[in-house]
Amino acid sequence: MKRIFISDLHLDTNRMDLTRAFTKFLSEHCQNIDELYILGDFFELWLGDDDQSPLINEVINALSVLTCDVFVMHGNRDFLIGDAFCNAAGAKLLPDPYPITLGDQPALLMHGDSLCTRDEEYMQARTLLRSDAFQQDFLSKQMPERRIIAEQIRTKSQKVSREKTEEIMDVTPEEVTSVMNQAETSILIHGHTHRPAVHQVDLLFGPGTRYVLGDWHTSTQFLRADGADLELVQYDF
Ligand code: MN
Repeated sequence: MKRIFISDLHLDTNRMDLTRAFTKFLSEHCQNIDELYILGDFFELWLGDDDQSPLINEVINALSVLTCDVFVMHGNRDFLIGDAFCNAAGAKLLPDPYPITLGDQPALLMHGDSLCTRDEEYMQARTLLRSDAFQQDFLSKQMPERRIIAEQIRTKSQKVSREKTEEIMDVTPEEVTSVMNQAETSILIHGHTHRPAVHQVDLLFGPGTRYVLGDWHTSTQFLRADGADLELVQYDF
């Protein structure tokens, strides 16, 4: 079984070069695979599945012609992606965390933001933004108002992020260990931090590995899996 894992593309109407890089990536790397996993922050902003932007239509067209299965997980920027978008794109929406099997190895997929528990301010905001009450209220508004609210949230988040230390913005090591021990998995794959790397983790039942996917600002590192063989691969565009 051949799989590819990507995350943090942050596709944006103002960065159509990223959408071109993504469609090029699909044709270069995703023609002979079985499954493609997009682990969150696929889009820079998601205002609702009823947003009819040319960008979204282009992405739907690019995904719907793929022969492999496509899985999408929410990130902190596009957590309102719903079934309408996924159905149109021929993708399946995954919960976070989501367990899979690579070869004979159990693995856990996450976006990664829920591992950043030292960022208490963010964790509180996350609880609010992910609540049904907030989401229903947001989606009941007209699109221009949704855009204003989403951009306000993003601007505030970028402002406070600049004042936070690198350590606060990264995953909490103890949270990683705890999540992996509880899931009894020696493989964790996530994005969000934009710090692509392969980390060794000491678990109750032996050594584990945490694979962090790269963002797509000017190049990326994605994960290629052939059975249980995993490789973080550089992709320049
Ligand atoms: Mn993220």
